[in-house]
Parts: sequence; structure tokens; C-alpha cells
Amino acid sequence: MEIQQNVLDRQYRRYQDEYEAKALQVLRSGQYILGQEVAQFEENFARYIGTSYCVGLASGLDALWITFKLLGIQKGDEVIVQGNTYIASVMGITINGATPVFVEPDEFYNMDTRKIEEKITERTKAILVVHLYGQAAKMDDIQGLCQKYQLYLVEDCAQAHGAMFNDQKVGSFGDVGCFSFYPSKNLGAFGDGGAVTVNNEELAKRFKIFRNYGSEKRYHNQIVGANSRLDELQAGLLNVKLKHLDELNEERECLAKRYMSRISHPEIALPRLAPGCTSIWHLFVIRIKRRTQLINYLEEKQIRTLIHYPIPPHLSEAYQTMGYQSGQLPITEYFANTVLSLPLYNGMSEQEQDYVINSLNQFQ
Ligand SMILES: *Cc1c(COP(=O)(O)O)cnc(C)c1O
Repeated sequence: MEIQQNVLDRQYRRYQDEYEAKALQVLRSGQYILGQEVAQFEENFARYIGTSYCVGLASGLDALWITFKLLGIQKGDEVIVQGNTYIASVMGITINGATPVFVEPDEFYNMDTRKIEEKITERTKAILVVHLYGQAAKMDDIQGLCQKYQLYLVEDCAQAHGAMFNDQKVGSFGDVGCFSFYPSKNLGAFGDGGAVTVNNEELAKRFKIFRNYGSEKRYHNQIVGANSRLDELQAGLLNVKLKHLDELNEERECLAKRYMSRISHPEIALPRLAPGCTSIWHLFVIRIKRRTQLINYLEEKQIRTLIHYPIPPHLSEAYQTMGYQSGQLPITEYFANTVLSLPLYNGMSEQEQDYVINSLNQFQ
């Protein structure tokens, strides 16, 4: 049996009729950019997350960099972010010329909230909290620090559509929630897409102007903006998928719980949930010291795994000029060397999962 780390077409087939009807409807509508599907999705998604507004954008990275741009964050400013994130989180900061200041993660793979305060300086303008692998971060601690030091709070929710801290959805805690609808995300489109969720009406309006070349009224450009629009086809398909998001997330939770209760290899560290935090299980990440041997063993059994992420941003070639050496973020680097994402996807059968579980438990 061959098992991929992720499979995208099974959820598509489950709702195939709905997706295809919507795609045809959009294709036949003659309206392909900023029409009623985008407006409807923005309303639906804001309601789902629990914010007053949502603005559709072209990608998760755009959501991040445009957010920092509109918050006025620039060269000389510092933004606190966790060391073990996908590099796009960091690019959202550095595209604006600002400096990322890295905090080590806790045992739940999210920002260690006990280590934030020591990183705050005169230049700190914001905290970017990443709800990594689908689990909500400890938002009470982080909100407290943002209030105490008058910092912006930005959430990178690209992996956490629907995850909650104390029964409140991520993306509704800070000034801006940034989302990606890249196909492999829990709320994935069939191409690129992104959005921000905000409560501030004025800020929501500025996102709408910025994404459309800085114009609210056609050919009346108020500022130099970007072309970063969620398109009608993706918005239409997202409207279909959003209706099923909770059931898709629940299915992943069942698979995750099955892994948790059945994987019993003594060398494997299973993921854990922090008090008050839920996960939508974007990824099921284990840790093992003999990682290369395990990957090779699973490959022989045709079980594919992935590493999220093998090179932490501070050691990436793209950020060589920041001058970090290995050893400077030891926990982040330890995770980069030991984490492994097991196969988990909507539509995964018990038989497929049992094959993975039994293979893991037999690893010598
Ligand atoms: C996917 C992802 C992004 C970037 O989203 P894109 O839509 O691919 O640009 C940003 N941050 C995190 C944590 C992600 O997982």
C-alpha cells in the first residue's frame, strides 16, 4: 500500500457536485474579479472567525506583508516572531524592511510566551504569533504583553482555520488575523488565495483599497498599492468548502486521536495540546532522534512523510545577511532536526492509517 503524506483530491470528490456547480456558475457569470462571491466569502468568513470584517487577498504571504505595511512597520522596527515557523511569516516582516526578533518555541511548537518579554525593546512594534501545525497559541499571555507594551498583535493563522483558544477562534484576538487558502491548508482553495480578518472598520477599508492598486473608485488611485485580490472562482469554491470546514476539521481530529492512542513506539514523541487550546490538525508532527532512519524505513514501506521545516528561517540562505549561526536558537534547531509530519488528510481510511501505525510501532 502506498501512502502519501497529503492527498487533496479526496475531499474534492466528497463535495464534487457542489464544487463543480459553483465553478460553472462563476464561469458563466462573466464576473471574475471582486464580484459577489468575494463579497459573500468575506461576510461568511468574518462570521465564522468572529470578526467584524474579512478582506480577501491573493495569498497568505500578501496578507502578512500588507498587514505590516498598513500598520506602518518599516526599517528600524522590530517584530517578535517564533523561530520555528514557515519562512513566509518572516518574509512578511522583512519585505517591509523591519527586523524579525526570534523567540524559541514551547513543547507545543508555539511561541514560548515566557520568553517574549525579554525580547521587547524600544524598537519593538508588534508580535506575530503563528498558530503552528493547527494548534492555537496561548493568546491570553500574548494579549497581556501587547497591552502592557502597546504593541500590535498580528496572528498568522495560515495553518489554523477554526482552531480555538478558550472557545474563541484564532484570527479574532489581535489587530489582524492573516490567512492562507493555499490548496493544502485546512481551508484550501484550488489555487492561491488569502485573507485578513479585522475588527477595525477603517483598517478593513485600507486593506480593500491597498489590494486594488490603491483605489476605491476605478482610476482614482489614492496610494501606491498592490494587485492582491482573491478571485471570484476561488472565493466561490471557498464558499462551498467553508460550509464543510468544521466537519473536515473533525475528521482530521478523529485521525489525530487515533494516531495518539495507537502509536506506541518508545522513541516517538507525540504532539500534545496546551490547556485551553484546540488544534485543527493541519499537520500531525512527531519527533524522533533517529529521524533519517525512520524516514528511510517508512519509504521502504511506501509511506511518505515530510519535514516541517528542515531549515529554520534564521539559518536559511535567504537570511544569511542577518548573520545567525547555528546554535543560537537551540530549541528551534532541535525541532528542525527531529520533527516529522505523518500522513494525515481528509478521506484517509482506517486501513491506510493502521498500516502507518503498525509500521511505526514495528520500527527497530
Ligand atoms: C502557508 C503559510 C503561509 C503562506 O501562505 P501562502 O498562501 O502560501 O502565501 C504563511 N504562514 C504560514 C505559517 C503558512 O503555513
